[in-house]
Amino acid sequence: YAKESGRNQVQYFNSQIYAKIERRIKIEKHLRKALERNEFILMYQPQVNLLENQIIGFESLIRWESPELGRVSPLEFIPVAEETGLIFPIGKWVLQEACRRNKMWQELGFPKVTIAVNLSSKQFYDHSLKDQIHSILLETGLEPQYLELEITESMTMDVQVAIATLNSFRNMGLKIAMDDFGTGYSSLSYLKEFPIHNLKIDQSFVKDISTNSTNAAIVNTIITLARNLKLVVIAEGVENVNDLQLLQEFNCDRVQGYLYSRPVEASQVPDIFARFAGNQVNMDE
Ligand code: C2E
Ligand code: MG
Ligand code: MG
Ligand code: MG
Repeated sequence: YAKESGRNQVQYFNSQIYAKIERRIKIEKHLRKALERNEFILMYQPQVNLLENQIIGFESLIRWESPELGRVSPLEFIPVAEETGLIFPIGKWVLQEACRRNKMWQELGFPKVTIAVNLSSKQFYDHSLKDQIHSILLETGLEPQYLELEITESMTMDVQVAIATLNSFRNMGLKIAMDDFGTGYSSLSYLKEFPIHNLKIDQSFVKDISTNSTNAAIVNTIITLARNLKLVVIAEGVENVNDLQLLQEFNCDRVQGYLYSRPVEASQVPDIFARFAGNQVNMDE
C-alpha cells in the first residue's frame, strides 16, 4: 500500500510539474507577440499625501490581456519576460506610455504629479537604460522630477553598482523609490547609502495593522526609520479606514491602496483628479 501511494504521489508531482512547464511555454509563446499586437494596458493607481489629502502621484501597473490566455498577472509574466529578455522592449513601452500619459495630464491642466514606473532587475542593470530614459523624457517633454523609478531591495544585491546607478538617475533629476520594503534582504546599514527619495512599505505589513499588533509595530518602526533617514514613506495596500487612521497616527506621509482607488485605466484618471480637487475645495471652505 505504501509503495502504491508513493507511486501515486510521484505521478501527482510529475503532473504538477508538467502543468507548470506547459503554462510557462504557453506564456512565453504568446508573450513574444503581445507587444506588437497591442495586448498590454497600463493602469494607474493614485498615491495620496495624508497631510493635504492630495494626489501626489500615480503608480503605473502593467496588464496583459491575452486573446489566448485571458488576463495574465504581471506576477506571472514579468518573470518570464525577464528570463527571455522580452522585458527590454516591454519595459521601454511602459516607460514611454507612462511618461506620455503624465505629460498629457499636465497639459490638460491637472496638478503636476509624479508617475512611478516599476523597473525589473534586468532593466536596472542595463547600461542603456539611462540613455533610453533620457530620450523618452525628450520625446514626451516630461520633466525628470515627474518620473519616479521603483526598484526593490533584491535588485541592490550588488551594492556598489546599485549606488552608482542610482546616483546617475538622481543626477538626471529623477525620483527613486524603494518598493516592497521589508520583504527583501538588503542590509539596513546600506539603506542610508542608497540615494533614494521614497520608501514604500510592503503591503504584507500594512495589511490589517489596526487588528494585527505585530504588523502595526513593524510599520511604525519602518516609518520612524524612514523619517530618521529623511525619506518620504508610502504605505502600500491600504484597504480600510481603520488602517488608514493608524497610519495617520504613525505620521505616515503617503498612502496607496484600494481604499482610495484600485488601479484604473488612463481614461479614468481625470475623474480621480476631479474627486480630489473636490476634497481640496471642501477643506478650504
Ligand atoms: P508592486 O509594484 O508592489 O505593485 C503593487 C501591487 O499591489 C499591484 O499589483 C497593485 O494592483 C496591488 N495593490 C494596490 N493596492 C492594493 C490594495 O489595497 N490591496 C491589495 N491586495 N493589492 C493592492 P499588480 O498590479 O498585480 O502588480 C503586481 C506586481 O507586478 C507589482 O508589485 C510589480 O512588482 C509588478 N509589476 C506591475 N507592473 C509592472 C511593470 O510595468 N514593470 C515591472 N517590471 N513590474 C511590474
Ligand atoms: Mg511598485
Ligand atoms: Mg510594492
Ligand atoms: Mg510587489
